[in-house]
Amino acid sequence: WANKSEELIEEIKNVEIQPEGEDVTKADLSYMKKILRTHLIESKNNVEVFRKDPKSPLYSVKSFEELRLSDELLKGLYEMGFQKPSKIQETVLPVLIANPPTNIIAQSQSGTGKTAAFLLSSLKRVNIELEYPQVLILSPTFELALQTAEVAKKMAKFTKTTFRHVVKGEARPPQRIKEHVIIGTPGKMVDWALRFRAFDLKKINVFILDEADVMIDTQGHGTQSIKLQKELRSNCQMMLFSATYDEEVMKFAETIIPDALIIQLKREEESLENITQYYVVCKDENDKYIALANIFGTVSIGQTFIFCHTKRSANALKTKLEGDGHAVSLITGDLSVEERTDILKRFKNGDERVLITTNLMARGIDVEQVTVVINYDLPINMANKDIDFETYLHRIGRTGRFGKSGLAINLIDSDRTMGMIRKLEDHFGRKIVKLDAFNVDEIE
Ligand code: ADP
Repeated sequence: WANKSEELIEEIKNVEIQPEGEDVTKADLSYMKKILRTHLIESKNNVEVFRKDPKSPLYSVKSFEELRLSDELLKGLYEMGFQKPSKIQETVLPVLIANPPTNIIAQSQSGTGKTAAFLLSSLKRVNIELEYPQVLILSPTFELALQTAEVAKKMAKFTKTTFRHVVKGEARPPQRIKEHVIIGTPGKMVDWALRFRAFDLKKINVFILDEADVMIDTQGHGTQSIKLQKELRSNCQMMLFSATYDEEVMKFAETIIPDALIIQLKREEESLENITQYYVVCKDENDKYIALANIFGTVSIGQTFIFCHTKRSANALKTKLEGDGHAVSLITGDLSVEERTDILKRFKNGDERVLITTNLMARGIDVEQVTVVINYDLPINMANKDIDFETYLHRIGRTGRFGKSGLAINLIDSDRTMGMIRKLEDHFGRKIVKLDAFNVDEIE
């Protein structure tokens, strides 16, 4: 009997609590990335263009002036701090503003300037004399639609262009829409255009499908988008943007956007160069906490992310740290979109120095000022219960863009997790150095 109960205890210990991350939608992640982004992501890769007639010339621009934009639009761009086109914009913008209009499918990782590109080119096509919608932008969620509308309004600040975007919980459908640009989710747009006839799809000159990869992840968005697209004039300019390049997105893209020029900018790979990696040997949970508190007292550069395995442990850690007088924030999947946005904005502004989170954020992070990442719990692959290399890289890796150095500290509390550190060293071919967090002088 005694053996049996020991076995049982062992078994209970081995049951991993489901880590967070899987329940977070692509739309959530995409939105969080947008909130955290402060700068353009520059890429060293080259833009690739796939076209039916490879001999047809392709222009690229090095300045916004070459695009012959109105003074009002240029002024808006400069006020936003844009000085020259980003890499993807160099190629996409001249194609988008050329006549007759060309359809495009463009793929590049988030933060590379896609939104700014389609807003700029569609604003250039708006005729403000005409009081009806001429540009239709489809976004996967209310939050993303609002975000895009805010950027559009900034860009169009000195023009007379008007905007209408979907609002969460809006009860009544609009009557006749007079604004020049509509930004909405596919479902609402089917309602507005086809059910309530609040605007005429035949008068739309520019149709934009943003975040197509997020879109196809959401039930019904694909078919609703196609429903709308079918009502457009054949010479309406159609564009599709996606942050990823998988086959499913491409299939959808090519179904919905006919005869498109395909423009891709491959993503900049994350790497562990510029990152100094450490591990700290702790006896148990309590020891881990002491180590963390010591690190906290010493490392004060920039901002810190702390990754926990589960919501429960993340919550517990926050309570403890706060009890000891540290100002920390916490973000988990339990929070509403509004609450998360609020916390992310505060963190981005530097109101809090430490953000505790779960895998929820692993793929969303690239806050430039984050210089320290602490793996309070190592990332575990649920399939084989072993170290998850990919998530580890996402948590601490950086693309070359920041050029800044970073610090990653892994807290270890068993032979099993120590083994994982060795596996990480083997896998990435980079040394992880032992750090004595109980001898504070060692940390610099
Ligand atoms: P994406 O749509 O690919 O995620 P965005 O268009 O949102 O990228 O651009 C990412 C960030 O870079 C935004 O903060 C945006 O204001 C900024 N940005 C975009 N284009 C430029 C540019 N040409 N110069 C400077 N900043 C830019």
